Amino acid sequence: MDESVFEMIRRRSEEYLRFSHHDRYHVERVHGMAMRIAAEEGADMDVVRAAALLHDVARAMEEEGMVEDHAAEGAKIAEGILRDAGFPEEKISRVLECIRAHRFRRGETAESVEARVLQDADRLDALGAIGIARVFSRGGWENKPIHDPLIPPKERYDGESLTSVNHIYEKILRLRDELNTDTARRISEERHRFVEQFLERFLREWRLEI
Ligand code: FE
Repeated sequence: MDESVFEMIRRRSEEYLRFSHHDRYHVERVHGMAMRIAAEEGADMDVVRAAALLHDVARAMEEEGMVEDHAAEGAKIAEGILRDAGFPEEKISRVLECIRAHRFRRGETAESVEARVLQDADRLDALGAIGIARVFSRGGWENKPIHDPLIPPKERYDGESLTSVNHIYEKILRLRDELNTDTARRISEERHRFVEQFLERFLREWRLEI
């Protein structure tokens, strides 16, 4: 497919991105990772590529309280962008399905291989050193404490963590078990281990053991 189609999709998508934890570099990383997983899993590269570039277009609207579900709203916005860019009509609905299904919070199930790839690429960007940086960036924006030993992590993640460290326990450490593809599971192992090491070190410093 003509590269200019994706350039236009990318440019339009970037107009919607406003937060450091969901900025254009998040989208670029998800895009790169999604292409890598898609190649190994035999997914349609055009569908995955467009979906990765557009998956968070409504994220800022959700963060700002303007919409309830950025995945549903994002699919609506994406549809217009895909048409404007001249993306093949017969593939548009498959891209929208990926965007609708990528959200973690709802525990959405991804039916198509393309949707499963996008979910995995997005989740992998929340794992590891960059994932940790994004947790604290978001926590700062929400003015949450980095840690509070008096607030234990919740047994079940309900979409809102009270501290950044709790968010790592409640969401980030569970990502490894939420992945769809073997390719992503393989990539997740080392990243997961690093998050565990980070927490261990963080808590030792907190207790002044180091
Ligand atoms: Fe994302």
